[in-house]
Amino acid sequence: MTSRLATSAPDYDVAVVGAGPGGSAAALALSRGGLRVAILEKAVPPRYKTCGGGLLGRTVGLLPLDVRAVVERECFSAELHHHAPALSFTTQRAQPVVSMVMRDRFDHLITTAAQEAGAKLLAGAAVVAVVREAEAVELRTKAGAITARFVIAADGVGSVVARQCGLAELRHVIPALECEVSVDAAEFEKFHHAARFDFGLTPHGYAWVFPKRGHLSIGVLTTRRGSCNLNDEYARYLAHLGITPRSEERHGFMIPVRPRAGLCAAPRIFPIGDAAGLADPLMAEGISGAIHSGQLAARAILENRSDEAAARHAYRAHLQATLLPELRLARAVARVVYDFPRARAWLLTRHGQRLSERLTRLVMGETSYRAALGEPRNYWKLFAAR
Ligand SMILES: Cc1cc2nc3c(=O)[nH]c(=O)nc-3n(C[C@H](O)[C@H](O)[C@H](O)COP(=O)(O)OP(=O)(O)OC[C@H]3O[C@@H](n4cnc5c(N)ncnc54)[C@H](O)[C@@H]3O)c2cc1C
Repeated sequence: MTSRLATSAPDYDVAVVGAGPGGSAAALALSRGGLRVAILEKAVPPRYKTCGGGLLGRTVGLLPLDVRAVVERECFSAELHHHAPALSFTTQRAQPVVSMVMRDRFDHLITTAAQEAGAKLLAGAAVVAVVREAEAVELRTKAGAITARFVIAADGVGSVVARQCGLAELRHVIPALECEVSVDAAEFEKFHHAARFDFGLTPHGYAWVFPKRGHLSIGVLTTRRGSCNLNDEYARYLAHLGITPRSEERHGFMIPVRPRAGLCAAPRIFPIGDAAGLADPLMAEGISGAIHSGQLAARAILENRSDEAAARHAYRAHLQATLLPELRLARAVARVVYDFPRARAWLLTRHGQRLSERLTRLVMGETSYRAALGEPRNYWKLFAAR
């Protein structure tokens, strides 16, 4: 195929590859900013996405949209359970701590908002090749090709765009298993009121129960690949909870918890969300990083529409000022939590309720890792008598 880049002006200002929360949020911001935007999505939305579908309080606040129409259940309380020693802590808020969604409807809500703002959705258009030239980029799909001045790579953990552009490999990708489980009314009643997190059962990871409108999303993950069999861990978790599924659908997928090296190395290419490796390493939560980085990339492009190097520089600077330092600190905390089980047990035994409250403040966006860890008083409290 010969490239169209040499012969005509680009079709779009920005092509966004992937209509997940990151890509759709970026497309929404760019379209509202007056740019010509195309979203290329390999599936036909709305599509299932393997995910717990837990929107943290901090995530909901990021979107310039009312997401309540697609929220299946609002959990105003979160439970943290620890096994060996057996400990339980509950936190409660007036606002939802976690809002439960199914990703097909949630992602589609943002994509539709972007379309209403002017973005063009090309569905069933999997990008298979990327050709970069001085003034624009051509994206090839099996259905044809389009050209754009900027590309936002929002195509998830297996990003074809990142691979095609020679970006460094993702450095830490963790496996997770998500099951959509139907249970009888009595069992549902036991779990429908809170977002539940269990530590100390799954090696180097955790397990969760997220109640949806009429079923439970139950999952397990480990931060150390190869340390356990997640299907076995899931079976153990169900037995521990005393749950007998009436039916279930199982899906396994990967979560990237460490940013790519040289994230902004390829001219005209802006990797965001999972394609950039921006999930939170402590919570393995990636929707907020996807939306936030999508909005930062959009802002950098809108501020520097005619200067690609300045736009990339601005995106890098926005990430350095916000997300990247937070992820670095989260990684340090994750090491203690997942790789030093005795230290975790000691801390939770002495300060479990205080740490759960602090984690809830993080989840709600009321504090940051930087604020929580940068405060010397907090260390003093940890080691002082209870
Ligand atoms: C089991 C599991 C549970 C999780 N639970 C949670 C949770 O409860 N809360 C949370 O915040 N995070 C959770 N995450 C993480 C979260 O799902 C991701 O971090 C988030 O989806 C990243 O969003 P994104 O927009 O970057 O990419 P994605 O949501 O992965 O979207 C990428 C999009 O790109 C499309 N695409 C891929 N390749 C191409 C191509 N070549 N051409 C065109 N389109 C393409 C895909 O079809 C997809 O629509 C979980 C992850 C897993 C695996």
